[in-house]
Parts: sequence; structure tokens; C-alpha cells
Amino acid sequence: MEKKRYERPTLRKMNTGLMNKFGTKTENQPVTHIESVSVKGLMQKFGSPLFVLSERQIRRNFRNANRIFTTRYPKVQFAWSYKTNYLDAVCRIYHQEGSWAEVVSGFEYEKALKNGVPGNQIIFNGPDKSDEQLLIAARNNSLIHIDHYDELYTLIRLSEEHQLKPQVAIRVNMDTGIYPKWDRFGFNFENGQAWNALTRILNSNHLELVGLHCHIGTFMLSPSAYATAARNLCELAWSIKERFGKMVNYIDLGGGFPSTNTLKGAYLPGTDTVPSLDQFADAITDVILGYGFRPDELPTLILESGRALVDDAGYLLGTVLATKRLSDGRRATVLDFGINSLFTSFWYDHKVSPAQEPGQQTEETVLYGPLCMNIDVVRESIVMPLLEKGNQVVVHQVGAYNMTQWMQFITLRPAIVMIDEKNTTHVIRQSETMEYIDSLENVPTHLT
Ligand SMILES: *Cc1c(COP(=O)(O)O)cnc(C)c1O
Repeated sequence: MEKKRYERPTLRKMNTGLMNKFGTKTENQPVTHIESVSVKGLMQKFGSPLFVLSERQIRRNFRNANRIFTTRYPKVQFAWSYKTNYLDAVCRIYHQEGSWAEVVSGFEYEKALKNGVPGNQIIFNGPDKSDEQLLIAARNNSLIHIDHYDELYTLIRLSEEHQLKPQVAIRVNMDTGIYPKWDRFGFNFENGQAWNALTRILNSNHLELVGLHCHIGTFMLSPSAYATAARNLCELAWSIKERFGKMVNYIDLGGGFPSTNTLKGAYLPGTDTVPSLDQFADAITDVILGYGFRPDELPTLILESGRALVDDAGYLLGTVLATKRLSDGRRATVLDFGINSLFTSFWYDHKVSPAQEPGQQTEETVLYGPLCMNIDVVRESIVMPLLEKGNQVVVHQVGAYNMTQWMQFITLRPAIVMIDEKNTTHVIRQSETMEYIDSLENVPTHLT
């Protein structure tokens, strides 16, 4: 048997049974496998750091969310939020499961088309749509969600010039009791701007109003905010019906449902505090079903959920580069990934598990990334078993926003592997290379 490694004893004040400043208890169970694939084996084969996605978990999340809404409401359509994770392999799983695409740029729009999404199943959101992109979307019969008056007038002009009648909706912003308000996108509900925009659309022969849209925030913890949003959109739909004799096809409540990650500064872990998707679904569907529409005119409920459907399907694996003591005596652990790969460490206290059987000792430590930047902190304070150089760790719930918001900064971005339902691994994005970065650069001749 291998001789056990000596660990220096440390003193730590215990409040047994009570909550302490680290929450209720520390979880230091080693995570040696993801979907029965060895964590160490993955890093051996594909390198460290490494993002890993579970196809099984993605499908499970989608089917669960779809069940929760379709058992409460007759007409439900999910649209995958591309910016949350637009890896083609990931998008295609959602599309296979029946999801449309929700995009917020020409780049994402093109990606959706390339992923085989029919034009009329692409929702085009966001404040930045060029004339060219608007024309493409109009010709493809996509659902164009208008963000501001300039876009509205541009679209009317383009439609006149090119004899088109695009399908449109407006994005509505409103006071849902969540502050600061997200009022920079779309038309305001309370001050009548949304109604004003709608009357312009309904009086134009060049636009076809098909829906109403809002996206009230992200990582929303309040189901009642969605009830308010649903009520306001129903009110607009009702007014359109009364004044213009036309019922909109759909009400799109956007995304924003939380994952069970723990927000920075939260006292309890997200798994204990985040409302369930059922609660959000109840809040939304109670309002729409109870509003007074006839069953045959009930609008389709569109949901653009991103984060809640993918976060827990993603992991980031990495390796300890060094351990050290800070000047105040605190323990510090330097990892081979930082905020360059793990953008969400700015607002989450990510759960980090050792990838091997840990020792008995735990100690508060700071987890730093490898960047030569003071802000490169993965966790400001975490109680972990004593890790040493070469040990490996698993970061949980990193599927949302990291693989799109990551930075090519100081070093190259790592590979992404997907574990399919048969536990076969696929590299779905290679690690970046010097050639890849260099291919975009040009050196003027006088510098060669
Ligand atoms: C970002 C975004 C979403 C997805 O938000 P999540 O918080 O990831 O669910 C949906 N709709 C719009 C318009 C968005 O901008």
C-alpha cells in the first residue's frame, strides 16, 4: 500500500451543527467520473483545462422543462437561446428535441440557419440588426422582434422597398417589481410606448404583427415577476383583439429562469433557494389561462430559456499548478484555468470538487487562475481539502454563458468535449492553436 502523504495540521474554529459563514456544510466529495467517464482519463486524453458537456443531461433538462410547461398549457414552444451556448453540437440537441432558435445577432442568425433551423422557426431578437440582416430574416419568414423605433421605421421602409410583409412582434419592457429595471430593450409598457408601437405596426400594410415578446431579466428568482409580465402581455393582446379584431399567435415570455448555481454573497447554496421551474410555470400559465381568452384563440406560449436548460450539463476540469501562502497566512491554490475560461466566476460562487480522494484536512483557500492579473480569482473563499500541485478539480454548472463569453486572453481557449448518451466522448470544439490566432493577424511589410 502506498504510504500516506503527511499533511500539516491546521486549527479551525468549528460551529458544529450551526450555520457558519461558509453556509451549512462543505461538500468535498471527490468527483472522479462524469456520466461514468473518468475525469482523469478525460484530461489525460484531451488536455487540461477541459470543458465537458453531458448530452444526456441536456436532453433531460429540456424534456423536464417541456413536460412542466406542456402539462400546464396546451400550446408551448421553446426557442433555444443561442448566446447562452451556441456550440453547434449543443444547439442541434435542442433542435432535435423540438426547440426553435432564439438569436440576437446576424452571426447567431447565420449559425441557426447552418444548424438547419427553418427560417420561420428563428426568433430574431436584439437591438442590432442591420438592413441586410433584416431583409434576410424577412425573406426567410423569420420572427423579427422589434427593439426600438429606429428599427421599426427601417423595417417598414425596407418592406415597402422590397415588397415584403415580415412577421413581427415587439419586445416590451415593464416594471415587474425587479430592480434595476431592464428598460433598455424594447418598448415600455407603463408609459404607453409599447401600445404606440403596436398601433403603428397594426396600421402598416407592410408588417404582420404575430406576437408579443418580453425578456424581463436573467437569473430571476421571482415567479411573481413572470406573472406580472404575462398579465401585461395578455393585456396588450386583449387590447389588440378589441381594437383591431386580431388575435396575436403567440406570447413570448423570454428566458431568465435561474439555474441552481449559487450567486456570490448568497448565504445558502442555490440548490436550496432557487424556485423550481414548476413554480415559474404555474405563475405564467395561471395568468394566461385565467385571462379570459377563448380556448381556440389561446396564444402559443414561447419560452426562450437558456441558462436553466444547460448550466448543470457543463463542467470545467482543471489542474492545480501551485499552492502558496498569502501574506496574511491564507492558503492560496493556483489553477490552470481562470476568469478567461470561467467568465461566470464574476457572479457565481461555483461549486468546485476535488477529482481525487481528498485528505481529511480542509482549509479555507483562495482559488486563483493562471493569468498574470490580480482580478483572476475563481473563488474568493472556499473550504477545500488541501490540494497539491498536480491534483485535479471539477467545477460544476458551467454550461451557460462560459463557452460563449470566454476570452482569448493571455492564453488559448481549451477544448470542449461532449459525452453522448452511450458515454462516447466527442471533441465538439478543439482547443485553440497559435495558427488559429495568427491566421487573423497581418504584419505590415515594414515590420516583417
Ligand atoms: C439572453 C436571452 C435569453 C436567455 O436568457 P437566460 O437567462 O439564459 O434564460 C432569452 N431571450 C433573450 C431576448 C435574451 O437576450
